[in-house]
Amino acid sequence: MSNYQVLLYYKYTTIDDPELFAKEHLAFCNEIGLKGRILVAKEGINGTVSGTTEATALYVEHMHADLRFHDMVFKIDETDKHAFKKMHVRPRTEIVSLHLDTDVNPLEVTGNYMEPEEFREALKDPDTVILDARNDYEFDLGHFRGAVRPDIKAFRDLPEWVEENREQLDGKKIVTYCTGGIRCEKFSGWLKTAGFDDVSQLHGGIATYGKNENTKGDLWDGMMYVFDERISVPINQVEHRIVGRDHFDGTPCERYINCANPYCNKQILASVENDEKYMHSCSHACRVHPENLYVKQNHLSKEDLEARLAAIGETLTETIR
Ligand SMILES: [Zn+2]
Repeated sequence: MSNYQVLLYYKYTTIDDPELFAKEHLAFCNEIGLKGRILVAKEGINGTVSGTTEATALYVEHMHADLRFHDMVFKIDETDKHAFKKMHVRPRTEIVSLHLDTDVNPLEVTGNYMEPEEFREALKDPDTVILDARNDYEFDLGHFRGAVRPDIKAFRDLPEWVEENREQLDGKKIVTYCTGGIRCEKFSGWLKTAGFDDVSQLHGGIATYGKNENTKGDLWDGMMYVFDERISVPINQVEHRIVGRDHFDGTPCERYINCANPYCNKQILASVENDEKYMHSCSHACRVHPENLYVKQNHLSKEDLEARLAAIGETLTETIR
């Protein structure tokens, strides 16, 4: 039974007092029973929330009644429970963190909007570079066929990656895409200010492309990473090709875990079996880390730990490589 919904939305607009807005908005969200994460800044709002269909309907109505958000687009996923544990509304300096020295206002400069049907044609065009504007761990779980993967851990590292990889992009038609479109608004604008002339962005992001009646997620492989408890959602309605690879043995895998070393916390793909075998940890150094959460939660003694390590050919005293 899908009597819950997840709403994904953003809007670049002017919010004069983000602190006050956040406080009042949090009270409203709590009152109607939503959970989720919302960022507000002078430049706008960016949120993902979950709630019963009644609650999300109330929320959409409330936002559309506000002139600043009257035309805000909500991407809606049906689900059967909340996708978050808590409700946060946080005032920030940006609604997506690019940390540019000279900030880009997408209301003034941004890439051309490309609708899903046109984007699908661009995917097939050898003269177009399809640039994934997300992080490496998002790409590794799923991406558009033939897209370029910037090896970045955080969005703010993307401009530097572009500068270092200019030869791949110079003189080409560039089309960027991201989850719901918000990162591309600013990133494609930055690309234009950085001297790239022919820049477009997938309007509404992967989420919209997957729901579009004509494209149905065609040419998307794997799953789409999402920043809530669901972790991933399907996009391609026609066929499902797994592209994720198990961190430990390289076999097809779409299951994400966070490394049990809290100082690492790296996201890796792992089967249930390898997760257990390698103690929920990405490396030897993380397995033997004194703060390892798997070791703590399973109350492993030093002897237990040595036995578990021996099973995978490691020892406690092994030099960390
Ligand atoms: Zn680790």
